[in-house]
Amino acid sequence: MKRRDFFKSFSSLALLGSLPQVVKATKNKPEYNWKMVTTWPKNFPGLGTGAQYLADTIQNLSGGRIKVTVYGAGELVPAFEIFDAVSSGVAELGHGSAYYWKGKNDTFQFFSTVPFGMTSTEMNSWLYKGGGMEFWEQAYSDFNLVPMAAGNTGVQMGGWFNKEINSLEDLKGLKMRIPGLGGEVLKRAGGTPVNLPGGELFTALKTGTIDATEWVSPYNDLAFGFHKAAKYYYYPGWHEPGTTLECFVNKNAFSGLPEDLQQIVLGAAKIANLDMLCEFISKNNDALNILQNKHKVDIRPYPKEVMQELYEISKDVVMELSLKNDFAKNVYKSYTSFQNKTKNWNEISIKSYLNIEK
Ligand code: CA
Repeated sequence: MKRRDFFKSFSSLALLGSLPQVVKATKNKPEYNWKMVTTWPKNFPGLGTGAQYLADTIQNLSGGRIKVTVYGAGELVPAFEIFDAVSSGVAELGHGSAYYWKGKNDTFQFFSTVPFGMTSTEMNSWLYKGGGMEFWEQAYSDFNLVPMAAGNTGVQMGGWFNKEINSLEDLKGLKMRIPGLGGEVLKRAGGTPVNLPGGELFTALKTGTIDATEWVSPYNDLAFGFHKAAKYYYYPGWHEPGTTLECFVNKNAFSGLPEDLQQIVLGAAKIANLDMLCEFISKNNDALNILQNKHKVDIRPYPKEVMQELYEISKDVVMELSLKNDFAKNVYKSYTSFQNKTKNWNEISIKSYLNIEK
């Protein structure tokens, strides 16, 4: 299947699920006709549908005063040009994830996810209540953008392999699609990280161009059919423990809105942030069941020692981000101290609760 056809099939696939229903808000004529450019194929499960949900929510909550038209990757601008497009006002809104723009500023990765970093609940708490949002706003302000958290994948999976991973030795020479900081960690462990767009992964894995790949979690991975190209599905996704998706607004467009509409846009992003996480969690349960019981996938935890060694490497890789400048140092300090603080509470709350045999 050609890549384009593959992505096209998601529109019909997504329709089988429960796409957010658009309430037609027609009582007001749009006062603002906005464009949202995204890094996802249109209606891509979870991510593209999440962008559409946000657009619909802004439209519905504003009673139709803001109309938002969503463009999939490449429809108006290529996926990785949406940051510049919104910054310069080609479109008013963008939907992606902050680690895609690390070329602008390495520190952005903290607003998305870092290896062995925070889970979705911790990330949201840091962003909304722990000072994270203020850092993010400051960082994007330099690019004429107002950022908002607008979704979360939850904990991702570790990836698909065709051989067992019993020790760090098994990662040596392994050619794996794993982007960003996770890729840097794999490299230091002796592997070869490669970055390929989602649509090329199945063929690359099937033909042996790559030995292994990570993508997201059962919901997305089942849609890509990785179980037909790899034998083992390892967990957890240590490199992406709770990836935040973002929406950013052109600053001039945002400040041109009356106060009530500004609040509606900010509120809609919070609603979309929660909705996407719930979408992933509910769909992952169903997809995991299919992978386990229908496709008989060998689902395994990474050995404890492998996790420990990757954690040690990750600590260095993430810490090195803080050495770039004072801003990076402050974000790193805020992020890591928040994560350390939540550790104590997590031990006696969520962790102890989940450990009860039920
Ligand atoms: Ca991933």
